[in-house]
Amino acid sequence: MAIAFIGLGSNLGIRQVQIQDALDHLQQDRKVKILRRSSLYETEPVGFRDQPPFLNAVIEISTQHSPQRLLACLQSIERRMGRQRIFPWGPRLIDLDLLLYEDQLVNQPDLIVPHPELAKRAFVLVPLVEIAPSTVHPLLDKTVAELLACLGDATGIRRYRSREKFKHG
Ligand code: AMP
Repeated sequence: MAIAFIGLGSNLGIRQVQIQDALDHLQQDRKVKILRRSSLYETEPVGFRDQPPFLNAVIEISTQHSPQRLLACLQSIERRMGRQRIFPWGPRLIDLDLLLYEDQLVNQPDLIVPHPELAKRAFVLVPLVEIAPSTVHPLLDKTVAELLACLGDATGIRRYRSREKFKHG
């Protein structure tokens, strides 16, 4: 069993429902167990700013999938949920990113782990720090809490709703 972290985001439709749907899909996979889940955060879009705000969350899982197989599962869930890639950085029904997989480094054309944007994105670091602050980024050799402190600016990221109201399990 490997420990991995996955980032979830949605800014179309009923965002909370999309994120819950993605979790439900993941839970149906017998090689994935959701261990911890952050609160939901509402975040201002980065990159292309003229689009609705996102809801973001991070989960910790244990899995028997390899990193490549796990990415394929995440992409299959995105497809089954009807995600269309409108344009890079654009609005999306659901976005699932493999953030960290144990302390493994993967550098392939279709998969980079740790996720290359991880250390730059407060909307990923804030929920990640909520559930696993002492997790070490294996390339940068810093904890995710240290990375968030380095980033400094977490404005535009608000806790959306208490996790009790976010169904799980
Ligand atoms: P996005 O628009 O964020 O969903 O980007 C998806 C693309 O990023 C896909 O073509 C993936 O193959 C690629 N990718 C590379 N590394 C990762 C990763 N760690 N998690 C998710 N997608 C990745």
